[in-house]
Amino acid sequence: MAKKKFNKEDESGETSERRHHTDRSEAWNPKTEVGKKVLSGEFNSIHDILDNSYPVMEAEIVDSLIPELESDLLLIGQAKGKFGGGKRRVFRQTQKKTREGNKPRFATMAIVGDKHGVIGLGYGKSKETVPAREKAVRNAKYNVFKIRRGCGSWECGCGEPHSLPFTVEGKCGSSIIKLIPAPKGTGLRVDKEVAKILAIAGIKDAWSRTYGQSRTKINLIMATEKALKKLMMVKLQDVHYERLSVSDGPGKTLRDEFKEISEVVVEVKEDGRKKSKETASEE
Ligand SMILES: [Zn+2]
Repeated sequence: MAKKKFNKEDESGETSERRHHTDRSEAWNPKTEVGKKVLSGEFNSIHDILDNSYPVMEAEIVDSLIPELESDLLLIGQAKGKFGGGKRRVFRQTQKKTREGNKPRFATMAIVGDKHGVIGLGYGKSKETVPAREKAVRNAKYNVFKIRRGCGSWECGCGEPHSLPFTVEGKCGSSIIKLIPAPKGTGLRVDKEVAKILAIAGIKDAWSRTYGQSRTKINLIMATEKALKKLMMVKLQDVHYERLSVSDGPGKTLRDEFKEISEVVVEVKEDGRKKSKETASEE
């Protein structure tokens, strides 16, 4: 019986989520310093907050700074059978055995992002599906962070931040994921749930390699989150920004600013298979 109810919630899940997003008309009364500054207009970009690592303690901060914010739920549960046998579901259902009977609990994982390098992941758990989803979305908004995008594939060099600037690795439990830059047009050749995360963060092309149990979705997702966070931890010099077309801000890529410098740095392979247009025309 519990299962019947769960299925119904699952199907209606996405539409009610959209509704929740549109009617945000009720007045917001910020409780934190950061929230007050957002409302007063002192902070008018999410980057003002994330660049200075101010804490986001109110979901409305993200809502008002990123009006085009998208959200999605990750399939971390399954309908029947353990060990990857069942159909993937949004809610992970667990049960506690009590004297009164089985008490189900629902857990889900939400992602939010602006498709331009800002992303957040959140986990929510509750006795019912709807509050679990709301908690997850709220937690995702609290956990927003910035990533660096770029064009790190040596086969590409197009100068647009469509992929990752360099390879990053993340680990959670036995799941290890390596996210690898890919040339334009490759698409997201990664696990389906990982692809959702990368897409909402604004990465269009990437390859991945996973080690360990990639079937344990939550661990794989957490490993992906850790890998993405590493993108900001690496210290880059100006030359790297230029060469890898790194974008970690709201505006254009730094490559655009460097356009006057005609010297294009290209990793020319020893056999000379790949040459930039500039060097080719000079000859
Ligand atoms: Zn490229």
